[in-house]
Amino acid sequence: MSTFLELGLKEPINKALTDLGYEKPTVIQEKAIPQIISSTDDLKAFAQTGTGKTAAFSLPILELLDEKNGNVQAIILSPTRELAVQIGNNIKDFCKYLPSIKVTTVYGGSSMEDQIRSLKRGSQIVVGTPGRTVDLIKRRALKLGNVQWLVLDEADEMLNMGFKDELDKVLEATPETKQTLLFSATFPREVEAIARNYMTKPVEITSGEKNSGSENVNHEYYSVTERTRYPALKRIADLNPNIYAIIFCRTRRETQEVADNLIRDGYSADSLHGDLSQGQRDSVMGKFRKKTIKILVATDVAARGLDVTELTHVLNHKLPDQIENYTHRSGRTGRAGNKGVSIVLVNGKEKGKLRQIERIIKKKFIEGKVPSGKEIVQNQLMNLIDKVQNTEVNESEMQEFLPSIYEKLASLDREELIKKFVSLEFNTMLKYYENSKDLNDLGRETSRSRATDENMTRFFINIGRKDNLNPGKLIGLINEQNIGDKVEIGSIDILDTFSFFEIDKNFEEKTLTAFADNQPDFSGRSVNIEITKKERSGGGRRGGRKPFGKKDGGFGRRRSSEGSSRRSDGGGRRRTERSSDRPDRNSSGGERRSGGFGRKRKER
Ligand code: AMP
Repeated sequence: MSTFLELGLKEPINKALTDLGYEKPTVIQEKAIPQIISSTDDLKAFAQTGTGKTAAFSLPILELLDEKNGNVQAIILSPTRELAVQIGNNIKDFCKYLPSIKVTTVYGGSSMEDQIRSLKRGSQIVVGTPGRTVDLIKRRALKLGNVQWLVLDEADEMLNMGFKDELDKVLEATPETKQTLLFSATFPREVEAIARNYMTKPVEITSGEKNSGSENVNHEYYSVTERTRYPALKRIADLNPNIYAIIFCRTRRETQEVADNLIRDGYSADSLHGDLSQGQRDSVMGKFRKKTIKILVATDVAARGLDVTELTHVLNHKLPDQIENYTHRSGRTGRAGNKGVSIVLVNGKEKGKLRQIERIIKKKFIEGKVPSGKEIVQNQLMNLIDKVQNTEVNESEMQEFLPSIYEKLASLDREELIKKFVSLEFNTMLKYYENSKDLNDLGRETSRSRATDENMTRFFINIGRKDNLNPGKLIGLINEQNIGDKVEIGSIDILDTFSFFEIDKNFEEKTLTAFADNQPDFSGRSVNIEITKKERSGGGRRGGRKPFGKKDGGFGRRRSSEGSSRRSDGGGRRRTERSSDRPDRNSSGGERRSGGFGRKRKER
């Protein structure tokens, strides 16, 4: 293993790297730095985020560029604003002891005038997103005629994001003589086409095996159905009390839905996707970096610029459309020497994709079983005991309270005391998972048994037989509300003046909103619905579960059991009297909980 000096870098750069704590070069740096310093050949590098690729391309440029020349000598394109800013800041750190080198970062969503001013002052290195870079070229504020190095960072992502035209324009604005350095984690056809069309006999280097999954990442898959996908996700989160994860979704809508559900269910979660403003995205990413949020639900694109090295898990709520993107996703964990797990939730149809991914990552997926309630309770409990063990006691502050505490507890021996303290948490946990189902078996259930399962939300509706309602008409009425193409309707109970129906829990909020917005009529009556959690008219309890207290328990929940339904909007609507089937009022919105499950503390 060489040192940075041995790779050919000068002392001021080496000094800056020492300040940053970079002790020795990473694999990609060891290969790229001497190559770029010693040769003007184009370069194709297979490197994922987290391998140290930013330094791999920027250090040799810093070594070679002409400090006295104020023209733009290097243009670095990156797919997202966050990544561009990160690269720009990295380079500024690297040239801490090279004061004449100026770096400007240009990206959309920020003042063009400021960026133009900065360019006018003279920058040898420009880092930019493709769109803004092209805008600045068109305005003649960015002149690339003297460029010696063009870096395409995360080329696959730029093409995924539809920046092909912009790349072409930037490439055309740079001189033939430049050296092109293309860094990509994957090399689908489109990237190869760029390499073919715009590079001359590029030298290839790799940070490991091409497209290979990180050595530190284990890949697991869990079989789910559409009904068990979300509950399975929650159980995986629940099994890991110290989870710090990104949940990847395919679309913005899916992202928002999963995040909304997790927030509603008390998890410390938030969403990151393109429908959010830049300010909102910055705020969410900031909270996630500081671990105020433990679970980030994100689209592939939105998560690109996020530089976090300590993720415990990557969860694939659904696999990406382009399977190459799985490498990007799973590469977010297992960084900086940490171990990580990438979990994929797949239904029967999606399973086929796993084999294709295995070929790309050159690793096998291990089949996981969705954890049972008992396993989760055990894990949470052991985590609690670990916490107790590691809790520091503030003797001096506690001193004055201790005598009265000892006196109160004097009648209990050691074992009783332990049992009581542990029960504070344990009872709540047990209740929560009491009678929880084996989600691994749910796919095999009949439609009848399915209707009573924990993944359905039961609704009260204020019309019944006397209004000429029958199951067919009720299904028609539900469908007319446009709740969603795939919404599953469970059991239906038509009574004289009111009725009940069950809907896939994932559509709970949408169902409420759709009925509230549409305000449908049926047989001249205006229809309203509410969530209810009680048994069906047949008399049997649903799953035999009992609600646990309203008090915020140690487990941090305020709901009756896994999968029980709650409203988040507080309502504003009234329902008629029926004490035996009262809607679940345990569902006040905006509540934050404390305790296990990576959940938020209750705000007081
Ligand atoms: P990158 O792949 O460029 O996004 O880098 C991933 C992370 O590794 C960043 O936080 C870098 O600051 C860090 N890093 C890069 N190279 C080194 C090195 N040689 N030694 C220690 N940390 C590094």
